[in-house]
Amino acid sequence: MSGICPDCGKTWEDARRSGRLGCPGCWDAFRQELSEVVMGIHGADRQPDEEDLQNQVRERRRRLLEDELRQALSQEDYGKASQIRDQLRTGEVL
Ligand SMILES: [Zn+2]
Repeated sequence: MSGICPDCGKTWEDARRSGRLGCPGCWDAFRQELSEVVMGIHGADRQPDEEDLQNQVRERRRRLLEDELRQALSQEDYGKASQIRDQLRTGEVL
């Protein structure tokens, strides 16, 4: 899935790659994607401590990236795939 912000033209890819949103409108445009990144931590039964929380967020972002990597590969988009691999390797996820 790839949303695009109608206000600033930023794509979800751009936002995630750079780690920042382009404008307030991005919050609306990428609501679904953002909630997918954040939601999992709200579903926990117990109250996770700070470190748990960070690990969960990191893990979740990593899985999203891995999904994207698989998708890029299946579409034979090797340029994108290598970018994602770089992100995974450096740990720069969002
Ligand atoms: Zn925007």
